[in-house]
Amino acid sequence: MAELTPMMRQYLEIKKDNPDSILFFRLGDFYEMFDEDARTASRELDLTLTSRDHGKHAKPAEERIPMCGIPYHASEAYIARLIAKGYKVAICEQMEDPATAKGLVKRDIIRVITPGTVTDAACLDDKSSNFLCGIYLDERSAAAAFCDVTTGKAHLTAFSGDERVEHIINELGRFSPAEAILNDGAWAESRLLETLREKFHCRVERGGERRFLLADAEKSIRRQFGEEALKRLPAGNPAAAMAIGGLLSYLYETQKTDLSHINDLDYYEQGVFLELDLTARRNLELTETLRNKEKKGSLLWVLDKTKTPMGGRCLRSWLERPLLSVTAINRRSSAVAALVEATIAREELSAAMTGLGDMERLLGRIVYGTAGGRDMASLRAAMERLPEIKAQLASVKDRRLGELAAELDVLEDLRDRIARTICDEPPFSVREGGFIRDGFDQEVDRLRHILQGGKGVIPEMEAREKEKTGIRTLKIGYNKVFGYYIEVSNSFKDQVPDTYIRKQTLVNGERFITQELKDLEHEILTASERVVALEYQLFTALREEISAAAVRIQKTAAAVAELDALVSFAAVAVRNNYCRPDVDESGVIEIQEGRHPVVERVLKDSLFVPNHTFMGEKEERVAIITGPNMAGKSTYMRQVALIVLMAQMGSFVPAAHAHIGVVDRIFTRIGASDDLSAGQSTFMVEMTEVSDILHHATKNSLLILDEIGRGTSTYDGMSIARAVLEYCAEKKRAKTLFATHYHELTELENSLPGTVNYNIAVKARGEEIIFLRKIVPGGADRSYGIEVARLAGLPEKVVQRAKAILKELEAENGVQYVAARRESDQMTLGALGEGEVLDAIRRCQPDTLTPIEAMSLIYEWKQKL
Ligand code: ADP
Repeated sequence: MAELTPMMRQYLEIKKDNPDSILFFRLGDFYEMFDEDARTASRELDLTLTSRDHGKHAKPAEERIPMCGIPYHASEAYIARLIAKGYKVAICEQMEDPATAKGLVKRDIIRVITPGTVTDAACLDDKSSNFLCGIYLDERSAAAAFCDVTTGKAHLTAFSGDERVEHIINELGRFSPAEAILNDGAWAESRLLETLREKFHCRVERGGERRFLLADAEKSIRRQFGEEALKRLPAGNPAAAMAIGGLLSYLYETQKTDLSHINDLDYYEQGVFLELDLTARRNLELTETLRNKEKKGSLLWVLDKTKTPMGGRCLRSWLERPLLSVTAINRRSSAVAALVEATIAREELSAAMTGLGDMERLLGRIVYGTAGGRDMASLRAAMERLPEIKAQLASVKDRRLGELAAELDVLEDLRDRIARTICDEPPFSVREGGFIRDGFDQEVDRLRHILQGGKGVIPEMEAREKEKTGIRTLKIGYNKVFGYYIEVSNSFKDQVPDTYIRKQTLVNGERFITQELKDLEHEILTASERVVALEYQLFTALREEISAAAVRIQKTAAAVAELDALVSFAAVAVRNNYCRPDVDESGVIEIQEGRHPVVERVLKDSLFVPNHTFMGEKEERVAIITGPNMAGKSTYMRQVALIVLMAQMGSFVPAAHAHIGVVDRIFTRIGASDDLSAGQSTFMVEMTEVSDILHHATKNSLLILDEIGRGTSTYDGMSIARAVLEYCAEKKRAKTLFATHYHELTELENSLPGTVNYNIAVKARGEEIIFLRKIVPGGADRSYGIEVARLAGLPEKVVQRAKAILKELEAENGVQYVAARRESDQMTLGALGEGEVLDAIRRCQPDTLTPIEAMSLIYEWKQKL
């Protein structure tokens, strides 16, 4: 250390406290990075790496410290890029003016920017929240807290029991956190860590137990959310407090600023929202498509016609958190119904909210201290829309809309306060002045007048001096050497007063200065600095006033966001011809002329064929759906799941009529998975997902199972498919849609209670097939695999050869295969208890069984003993 320059020592001191951040060290107009930070930044940001000698004695180049720098005014874009790549950036500023500082300029970290705490619009997506997450896990309990620093929203939930980790992972799916801070228990849980890193590309930080101490957590909760919030947390599960405590401690450590907009903690328990695991979210393409991970083509894409970013985020959160309470669902769908009816009000509201902007994030930045004059002007513009919204809202009769109207404060006082203070088109920065409205502050006006020098005070003085001295030719001029001067031509020399100080003699005149002129010059030269400082001071005062009213603004913003989402639901319902579903706890799903909300929007030329659905509590609980590839099985099953989801979000649904008994969870096992990169085979992934479903489904769940057992040999696959189906129907009693190619399974309709067959009709015309897209009772008779293959463009030769092989196979194996199946059918269906197992063994003909069938029979027998 002694070897180093004082500045480098200062750098290392600060770096020591921020080892895991890239340190942006302010040096004049630049942020400099050194050492490892410089290497990382130069690699990630394509910056040139240089080196500098920081010792007191010159050193050869290889011993110099690598460094690179960026201009401070362009730092935002660079920071955004580093954050997007998952780095933390610590901003170290000069804490005093280098011009007046004695010795080394004082420097300090003013903020650490991390993926979960960025507030800069360049790093954020308007219509998505940006969550920081705190996770606490121990042997008995688990909790996850989520906070969006940009809006101040905070959510918390807790679990106990064996499945606490699964539940936490499912909650992560609702919030897709950008960054997570974990206690040691959570850090040690590889499933959590992997999910965060791989599924959410989330930055993870090991928080250590010290950040999660209960006593500190309680203190932070009280400080941030108040005593009441603490009381609402579950008495028996301290994990909840510790998760949010850990999150807050991380925020305090990194943000070092006002966080008073984080003031409302939404604690929710299991059973409030429909639970979806990550697989179901992905498969149902709720917010992005499976293939391209794009919003276009997802359910959100169809449903989101919101006009404001905050409305967009609200609607998205409803999609991530469908409800279970019939009352809550109806409250929302009643409001949608009222808006569907009130065409004019709906359109007026829509127009009033268009371009209204993002009050939530504007306020967030104001409280946070990162807002500029433009943010203030935008907030004012948003406030100007409020009276119209409130008036329109009052014209629609509905309970929830009435509540929203009551919660919506038109914020007239604040709007006027901003309007009086900030001009209409303020510049971007608050550090360079020019944003305070003329006439708001006398001193600002005076300084601006002075600043205009040439046009303002100088001609005024010139006129004054002329009159005072009677010198007609008196002129005030300016040059770089003397500054301002008074010039008098030789003919008036005698009239020059004593107070004039001679500075220069010219051929035909003389130049003077006066004390008054020098004072004025000083004013002009310093006015710019003074007006900038004064404007900033006035801005700070305004910011504080607005911050103090944060809760009022937040409430109003929340009301507008909700209204925007409701209006969007209504507009989409009208445009796409949806109906309001009857939602209750009947356990029945009955849909007349249901459509797939996304596929119907994508099909341009051809019309979507609507289909009915009935799934009862007892009858028709399980539907076995057969039909050729491409017939529309998977579309149909997803359609049912999506309609149920939409209904539970409070939306209208794409159907002529729908009666939806709420479901607690939706599970899916569909098609290929993207886990293959993780080194698992398709079959293994499929079986893991099936196993999850069979463990967690309840009788109130909805299961979508597509082609179970496809990834292995036919007999294996069929055995597994059948065993799964039996388990779902008999043990789980869950509502199940089960698509399969194993036509043999359709025989279960007669023996497995609650099971019915459906198939998606096709018409064969010669060698061609026509898809009718209609679901009809009964099993499909054939697979038409070869016909579909022809449609896909398989060479005719291959098609013909496949047909020939199929014929041969049917002729050879048909009889034997059917016999074997019948044996095993009798055994599984009839047998119960020891006597029957013996009986089954006696009747069994080992010669007709494949080894796998034999194995599964033995397993089956063992289970029955
Ligand atoms: P399967 O699962 O039976 O192989 P899909 O559900 O993938 O078939 O459907 C294949 C294609 O058929 C879909 O991409 C869709 O464009 C079209 N389709 C499916 N259902 C319908 C329908 N009800 N009306 C119109 N087109 C449909």
